[in-house]
Amino acid sequence: MKPVLPLFVFIDACGWEIIKEGAFARDFAPNRKQLESVFGYSSTCVPSILSGRWPVEHRNWCYFVYDPKNSPFKSLRKFNWLPKFITSRRRFRRWLSKFVKARLSFRGYFDLYNIPFKYISLFDFTEKKSPLQPGGMNRGANIFDFLETRSIAYHVSDPQLSEKKNLEDLTAFINSEWADFAFVYWPELDGLLHRVGNQSPEIAPKLRQYEEWISKLLASAHEHYEEVRLYIFSDHGMANCDEHLDLKSKIEALPLRFGVDYAAVYDSTMARFWFFNNEAREFITYCLKQVPQGRIMDNDELEQLHCLFNDRYFGELIFLLKEGVLIVPSHTGERPIRAMHGYHPLDKHSYAALLTNQTEIPDEITTIPDIFKLMKRDAALAKERNSGEKVLPASPGARAYEPRAANF
Ligand SMILES: [Zn+2]
Repeated sequence: MKPVLPLFVFIDACGWEIIKEGAFARDFAPNRKQLESVFGYSSTCVPSILSGRWPVEHRNWCYFVYDPKNSPFKSLRKFNWLPKFITSRRRFRRWLSKFVKARLSFRGYFDLYNIPFKYISLFDFTEKKSPLQPGGMNRGANIFDFLETRSIAYHVSDPQLSEKKNLEDLTAFINSEWADFAFVYWPELDGLLHRVGNQSPEIAPKLRQYEEWISKLLASAHEHYEEVRLYIFSDHGMANCDEHLDLKSKIEALPLRFGVDYAAVYDSTMARFWFFNNEAREFITYCLKQVPQGRIMDNDELEQLHCLFNDRYFGELIFLLKEGVLIVPSHTGERPIRAMHGYHPLDKHSYAALLTNQTEIPDEITTIPDIFKLMKRDAALAKERNSGEKVLPASPGARAYEPRAANF
């Protein structure tokens, strides 16, 4: 028996609105709190949780950026000659994404989505490393760097493996009594919610399955650890999309040329623009102001959300949609999906959740990057109690962590 195991279970998209009233996990994690999310997609939220920092600090924000000089996709231009009915197919895109990911040695999640091959060489992809690994941030350290530099034995899910396989691997690790820290990442609820929406009868059985898995994990953990500090949490919620907006057609109807006058990335809930002349800026700004389903975000607001990048690396103008409206077609998909996240963090369905068996959630834990504070605190506490070694906030002699291949 070891004294203590911190067990952090990350259920992607298990938002506050989804669990606030139901019985989910109440038996073993009765203390719960609504957390504010971070503006962006999982590409933003996951790194923010893992590093305790905001997008302007870690620079893991949106996936694609206009950056022709550094674009690794030049060789993909030739696919432009293939007919659209092939190149816009999800199956073809997925196959090609896998191939490109391997060739470019990207370590994180990678998808070419629906960026036209004609323009792909104008863009770079910003998540070349996996935030779920040490050294995985674009800038600065994450929890796995913290654990490694302090020699704290940990288990983290491998996103390449199924949820079930990750569960089995973690159970084996817990049974070995090696672990001083465990981090589970389950992404399937997110995919399900995107497909069926937040009111579907398919959601409850998925939550029951997670409950069952967590109960079993707890039972194993209690056989080997005197205390298990359980935290179940999410990165954002999920809003149903009942209205579609063809923003791309509106912009493309303007007398401007993509790649010459401007560039744009149409994410599913926001569009990001880069301008190469004043005329393009004026035309596009005017056009966007006539679109009632969204609004141009001003600098003050972006700054409040910690997403105002001084170099405008992720776009000079950000147009954000109202909750429930989806850009279709977009660069993330040709066809609509039932539900989406990535709206304003204060919109109803954006809020994330934290559920724990701990009697107290400190008042300072209010946003998803704050989960990092709990992870760091509990990992240090476990190391200390399990080995008798004291972990200092910055232990002398521990090598200062420098990202291996910083992109920015
Ligand atoms: Zn998602």
